Amino acid sequence: MPTTVCPECSEDVYVDAESEQGDIVTCEECGSDLEVVGLDPLEVDLYEENDDLDDNLDDDERF
Ligand SMILES: [Zn+2]
Repeated sequence: MPTTVCPECSEDVYVDAESEQGDIVTCEECGSDLEVVGLDPLEVDLYEENDDLDDNLDDDERF
């Protein structure tokens, strides 16, 4: 199983071998959600849910 390093806690993170770019994995060490941003080499980045969804709701209400 491929591993990479968690950007949050620097511990090894196990990524499913069939994961694709954009998949979200959870660091077992610190619980952070990590997005797969690269596969060769395997690379993950912190996945942060932002408030864009709320902004979209506001836009819909205007129509
Ligand atoms: Zn971690």
